[in-house]
Amino acid sequence: MNSYKRVLLKLSGEALKGDSSSILSSACVEEVISSIKGLVDKGVEVCIVVGAGNIWRGKLAETIHIEPARADYMGMLGTVINALALQQALVHVGIDAVAFSALEMNDVVEFYSQEKALKALEEGKVVIFGGGTGKPFFTTDTCAALRAIETNCEAVLMAKNGVDGVYSKDPNKYEDAKFFKTLTYKELLDLNLGVMDTTAVSLLLDKDIVLRVFSMQDSTAFAKIIAGEDLGTTIKKGE
Ligand code: UDP
Repeated sequence: MNSYKRVLLKLSGEALKGDSSSILSSACVEEVISSIKGLVDKGVEVCIVVGAGNIWRGKLAETIHIEPARADYMGMLGTVINALALQQALVHVGIDAVAFSALEMNDVVEFYSQEKALKALEEGKVVIFGGGTGKPFFTTDTCAALRAIETNCEAVLMAKNGVDGVYSKDPNKYEDAKFFKTLTYKELLDLNLGVMDTTAVSLLLDKDIVLRVFSMQDSTAFAKIIAGEDLGTTIKKGE
């Protein structure tokens, strides 16, 4: 039996780029799609929130004098590009998928509503959320928490680049970094480890949704988690 019936995958934009000089690497996209296919084949209902770190992040604007809110809209547009790329790549391997955007752009992508997303999930489609929250000064982490709540997901699966879970400090720099197998959301907030932004953590804590953090480099990780393996770090509400 699967550990979770419906999950939300939070993919950073960089997961689609790898070392490529282009914004998208075909090898990375294929790997992500194969992980998603693994979940779909097991009957898991899948939602995806994708970032835009492979294209643009709002904070890059400081150096080139772009007004902060405009810079964030540029980031949101980047997430729509990634959402469309993922949707097309999923359809290509025979998986029914729909991309929504929180920013309205009729000719490009379907405008998000909770009702439409829930209907698509009931129809067995993979649902991809682009455009972040549709508002500047937020991140795609907060979007992931928000959409996980709106679509009744049991868990948010967060694949990280170069680390296999949550550590007290960067394990690639410090040998004495301590690995956390489990954490409560309160501990995560107190430790201020930057795993996810605090708005997102507060939302997940409030709604008692589990957060699993694991390595993006392990292409079998999604399937293992669904099979009930104790992989990476598990963050819960706690007592
Ligand atoms: N962004 C935003 N509002 C949102 C989500 C994202 O303004 O609700 C912008 C913000 O500029 C951010 C960029 O989109 O830097 C890309 O998102 P993020 O940095 O979360 O991408 P990731 O790091 O996951 O690739």
